[in-house]
Amino acid sequence: MTAIVDCPVCSRKTEFSPANRWRPFCSERCKLIDLGQWATGGYVIPGDPPDPEQPSDAPPGTPPRS
Ligand SMILES: [Zn+2]
Repeated sequence: MTAIVDCPVCSRKTEFSPANRWRPFCSERCKLIDLGQWATGGYVIPGDPPDPEQPSDAPPGTPPRS
């Protein structure tokens, strides 16, 4: 009983089994292509992340105005 899946890169039918070391990809080539896409196209943070230590407009110790 072997599951057949589409390769995420080239959509070719490929075995999803321990015998296929590149699963869910059909080959090492497709796995490397996918990893390359992640490295270049994913997790790109535009600009600087917000600084959690950024001081607010009210200095510490100031009683809240109501
Ligand atoms: Zn493939």
